[in-house]
Amino acid sequence: MFAAPFDFFAPQRIVFGWGRRSEVGTLAAGLGRRAFIVVGSRTLERSGKVAALEQRLAQAGVAVVRLGTISREPLVADVDEAVARLRENGPQSDDLLLAVGGGSAIDLAKAVAALAPQPEPASVRDYLEGVGRGLKLAAAPLPLLAMPTTGGTGTEATKNAVISSQDPPFKKSLRDDRMIPRIVLVDPELSIGVSPATTAWTGLDAITQLIEAYITRNARPIPQSLCLEGLRLALPAVERAVNDGADREAREAMAQAALFSGIALANSGLGLAHGVAAALGVQANVPHGLACAVMLPSALKANRETSQAGLARLARYAMNLTESDDAAAAQRLLDHVNALCRRLNVPARLSELGVHREQLPALVQGSHGNSLNGNPRTIDDAELHAILEAML
Ligand SMILES: [Zn+2]
Repeated sequence: MFAAPFDFFAPQRIVFGWGRRSEVGTLAAGLGRRAFIVVGSRTLERSGKVAALEQRLAQAGVAVVRLGTISREPLVADVDEAVARLRENGPQSDDLLLAVGGGSAIDLAKAVAALAPQPEPASVRDYLEGVGRGLKLAAAPLPLLAMPTTGGTGTEATKNAVISSQDPPFKKSLRDDRMIPRIVLVDPELSIGVSPATTAWTGLDAITQLIEAYITRNARPIPQSLCLEGLRLALPAVERAVNDGADREAREAMAQAALFSGIALANSGLGLAHGVAAALGVQANVPHGLACAVMLPSALKANRETSQAGLARLARYAMNLTESDDAAAAQRLLDHVNALCRRLNVPARLSELGVHREQLPALVQGSHGNSLNGNPRTIDDAELHAILEAML
């Protein structure tokens, strides 16, 4: 059998290791002379770590402009305002973006890096899939150096930024192959102070991404190898990182798993859990990671038969199983994920997230998109409605 043809995208350079944030100045200097910085939380700012990064940048001759701090998933207005602020500084050809934080900060920086150099000023909404005017990036994005801190979303390695709006309600992607951050600097030490809840949700997001990217109908060999190894790292580590935020081995494993999940999803796409997660974000304001965690057990159940062989391979590698029967091995993975979600206090019912029966049609509608299209088998609206109804 011939392999399906594939392309493979990844950041140009990945710099991984404890304490390696000290290299930020030299790395940034290789991308430009002025860095616009997006920070992921006030806690990170207060810790003094951002000031230390800025000092390294200055030492390397890189001027610093603080663009903003964002601790929620970015809205259209957040992107438009940050782009306007960057432009007020008089854009230069050697500008770069630097994001330090979780998925929200990195997504905001990716969107700003993409839009700032565009010749026609327009709202990010006009570039979003499915809701805007369908504009495409005419100019290449500014280079971006991404420093993830939550060990979860993997957005440091993807080519899209997820942007939301409350009125009208939507959550859509700005996507372009050139939006993958140029350099990813992962220093697991930055994740040490992340709260148990954020650690749990972002960690389960990474696990969902690793599983969905492995079994998606667009699965390809390089991303699949990353999924196997990523899941082997993440399954035992996520709970350890939640229970002891200073567990260095667990933090490091999660930082790697998240990165692998990002590279995998950027190349293969995702599935049912991520499709519904976007709609849950819009309809019930559920954070992305939590929404994925809530949906993962049901998504696995819905795909168990179609993806039995793939789930069994994942289970054997990641859980070191010797089980030769595919059905039994796949079931072990499902059982493990279900138990993990329970122990990490992931709500099993949509009603616990504030979802009402009347919202189901809107949830079904809002779940359509790239992720659901990549699910191993087609799930029509009636079946999706039934899946969600059973979770109420
Ligand atoms: Zn995700």
